[in-house]
Amino acid sequence: MTRVGFGFDLHPLVADRPLVLGGVTVASDRGLGGHSDADVLAHAVGEALLGALALGDLGRHFPDTDPRYRGISSLELLRRVVELVGAQGGRLVNVDATVLAEAPRLAPHLPAMARRLAEALGLPADRVSVKAKSPEGLGLVGRREGIAAMAVVGVEVGP
Ligand code: MG
Repeated sequence: MTRVGFGFDLHPLVADRPLVLGGVTVASDRGLGGHSDADVLAHAVGEALLGALALGDLGRHFPDTDPRYRGISSLELLRRVVELVGAQGGRLVNVDATVLAEAPRLAPHLPAMARRLAEALGLPADRVSVKAKSPEGLGLVGRREGIAAMAVVGVEVGP
């Protein structure tokens, strides 16, 4: 059986933080605020993986009240999510993700993000897709108040 998972995340853009997306640090005058490295793309992928097997969300497994997760690389969280899914008999098949950001321009960084995610997830590079969209100035993302990400994954379960 193949199951599908969907993930969404949104983080505020703040001063004095690096902008980390898909494990890649992108040059930017602001970065994403959050308890971990606030990698909104990695979080959306992790939420999708957990969702495929109805295992709850990232906050349930890695609470932001736990000091162990302060500043942790979200790629490390993804590795742990893959282990959780594997323990339930799930095998990740593919990832398709979109980052919604007004700036900076992400297109040159998308292949590196897909590679880093694929490494963390234990997938061949051709099974991870990362795309970017600009909201053309609309809404909170268009005003550069935050960056959002969405992801879907396919997970095979059973023999
Ligand atoms: Mg998050």
